Amino acid sequence: MIHPEDVTPIPAGYWNPGDVGLAAEMEVRIVRADGEVRWLRSISNAITDAQGVVIRVASTVEDITDRNTAQAAVRAAHLDAARANTAKSEFLSRMSHELRTPLNAVLGFGQLLELESLSESQQQAVGHILRGGRHLLTLIDDVLDISRIETDRLDVSLEPVAIGALIADVVGLMQPTASAAGIELGHDRPQYGGVASIHVRADRRRLQQVLLNLVSNAIKYNRPGRRVDLSTNMLEEGRLEIRIADTGIGIRAEDIPRLFTPFERLGQEITDIEGVGIGLALTHRLVTVMQGELRVESVFGQGSTFSVLLPLLASPVSYFPANIDEAALETSTDVTTSESRLLYIDDNRSNLELITRIAIHRPNWTVTTAVEGGHGLDLARTMKPTLIMLDLHLPDMRGADVLRALQADPLTSRVPVIIVSADANTEQASRLQAAGALRYRTKPVNISEILHDLDEQAVPVTSSLS
Ligand code: ADP
Repeated sequence: MIHPEDVTPIPAGYWNPGDVGLAAEMEVRIVRADGEVRWLRSISNAITDAQGVVIRVASTVEDITDRNTAQAAVRAAHLDAARANTAKSEFLSRMSHELRTPLNAVLGFGQLLELESLSESQQQAVGHILRGGRHLLTLIDDVLDISRIETDRLDVSLEPVAIGALIADVVGLMQPTASAAGIELGHDRPQYGGVASIHVRADRRRLQQVLLNLVSNAIKYNRPGRRVDLSTNMLEEGRLEIRIADTGIGIRAEDIPRLFTPFERLGQEITDIEGVGIGLALTHRLVTVMQGELRVESVFGQGSTFSVLLPLLASPVSYFPANIDEAALETSTDVTTSESRLLYIDDNRSNLELITRIAIHRPNWTVTTAVEGGHGLDLARTMKPTLIMLDLHLPDMRGADVLRALQADPLTSRVPVIIVSADANTEQASRLQAAGALRYRTKPVNISEILHDLDEQAVPVTSSLS
C-alpha cells in the first residue's frame, strides 16, 4: 500500500537489541484501493524482554492528511501575505517618488522666491505655498512611515542616545511654536546622582520625531497662558520615563482607546485646530518598534500627560561621539575659493534648473548638467568636476550603474558623488553609500543642505605665499 516513492528499506540492525525505548517515527504516503493518496504518520517503539532483547515492536499509525492539507494552506496564506506586503511596499516606494518629484519643484522654487525682494503680499503668498508644501511633505512621510511599520520595513537603529541633549534640542525646536501659541514650555535637566549624561537605547532621529509630535500636540490642544513641561524619571525596572505634561483641554476617558487609530481626531475635526490624526498613531508605532512603551493619563478639561518609556543603558557611555552639532556644520567658511565645478546629472528639467539656480548663490561654483547617464560619464571624464550630484532615475541607465562606472574609472574615481533622489528609502541610501557615494539627499531638496554640500566640497584657494 505504501506509495512507491516513499518505500525505503529499513536499515539492517535498526532495532538494536538493548536500545530500550527506542522509537522510530516516519511519515509516508499510502495509496488506497480506490487510488486515493493519504498521508500516514507512524511512531514505533521497541519492546524488550528483561535481558534487553527486542521481542516486539508496537506502532501507532495516524492519518495526518487533513493536518498536512491545513498546514499547506497556512503556508500558502503566509506566502500570499508576504507577496502582498512586497507589492504594497513597492507601490509605496513608487508613490513616494511620484509625489516627491513635483513637491521638489514647489518647495525648491518657493524657497528661491523667498530670497528675492518681494512685496508684502507676495511674501505672504510664498509663505502659504511653502507651508502647504511642507505640510504635504510631512504627511507623505508619516503615511509612508506607518505603512513601512505595517509591512515590517521600517528600519530603526537602536543606539545609545543622550537624553538630556535630545530634550534640549526638542525644546529649542518647539520654543517658537510655543511662544506663538502663548504657552510656557519648560523642561528639567536630568542629573541623576551627578551623572550629567543619561543614555537610553533608541533611534535618535525617531525618538526626536516622537517627542516633537507629543510636544506639538501638547501645545496645540492647550490654552494660551498655560504650560507644557518635559521631565524625566528613572524607573526601578531599568527604564527611563520621558513625560510630556500639558495643562490643556484633556481627553475623555472613553476616547483614550481610539487615540492611536490612524485618522481619528476625536471630534477635533470640527474645530479649527489643524491636524490629520496620524501623528499619535505613528508615534505609538515608532515607540513600539524601538521596544519602548507609550502611556497616557488625562483628565478631561485639565490636561494630559504622555509618557515614553525606554530601556535605560546600564552605565552612561561617554565613548560614543556626541551627536554631531548641526550648527557647527552650517558655519559657512569665509575662505576664498577658486572655481569649483559641479556636474549635475538628472533628467528632470525643473530639478536641473533648481540646482543651477541654488548654485548661483555660490559664485565660486559653476554648474554643468547632463540629462543622461552616458553623457554624464563622458562629461565627468573630460571636465574633471569637483563634485558630482546624481539622480537615480535616468532615461538611459540606472544611477547606481553610473556610480559604479565612475568608481571604476581612475579618471573619475576620486570625485565625490552625492546622490539626489526622490526615493526616501534608507536601505537604498545605505547601499549606495556602501558603494562609494558620499551622501544621499532626498528630494524635495533643502536649499541650505545643497549650499552646505557646495561649501563643504569647494576647492580652497592655495595661498600665493606658500
Ligand atoms: P492630529 O493632532 O493631527 O489631529 P494626532 O494623531 O496627533 O492627530 O492626535 C489625535 C487626536 O488626539 C487629536 O485630534 C486630539 O483630539 C487628541 N489629542 C492628541 N494629543 C492631545 C493632547 N495633548 N491633549 C488633548 N488631546 C489630544
